[in-house]
Parts: sequence; C-alpha cells; structure tokens
Amino acid sequence: MVCYQCNNPAVGICKFCGRGVCPDCHSKMPVILSVYVGANQTPKTIVVADALWCGQCKPQPEPISMPEIY
Ligand SMILES: [Zn+2]
Ligand SMILES: [Zn+2]
Repeated sequence: MVCYQCNNPAVGICKFCGRGVCPDCHSKMPVILSVYVGANQTPKTIVVADALWCGQCKPQPEPISMPEIY
C-alpha cells in the first residue's frame, strides 16, 4: 500500500475515504463515534481525538441524502 499523494509507503488508511496515507501527508481529525445521554440528561459524545485523515477528503458530519440516485 502506498500514499495516494506521494507514493511513499503508507502508514495507515484514511478513516473517512480509505485512501493510504504516509507520515508526511496525513492529518488528524476528531471523529465522533457516538452520542448518548448521560445520567444527568446531558448529551455526551465519544470522540476519537486524532483519527487518521488524509487531509484531502471532506467527511460529512451527517449522512447526506442523494436523491439523484433514485
Ligand atoms: Zn480521506
Ligand atoms: Zn504521502
């Protein structure tokens, strides 16, 4: 597997788009894994603070609808 930007050996895969990224090209982005309501009714989120991110794709915070497909 190689980095999709510079063809160096990739160290991981972008969590969002699946492309390989090397240490020089990757970025970090917090990822919200889930949202739940705590005991005091305060919404809480479980976040991965530094998920591997290629820095190029544009992860959407919400699922987007694509009516053109149907
Ligand atoms: Zn990506
Ligand atoms: Zn690279």
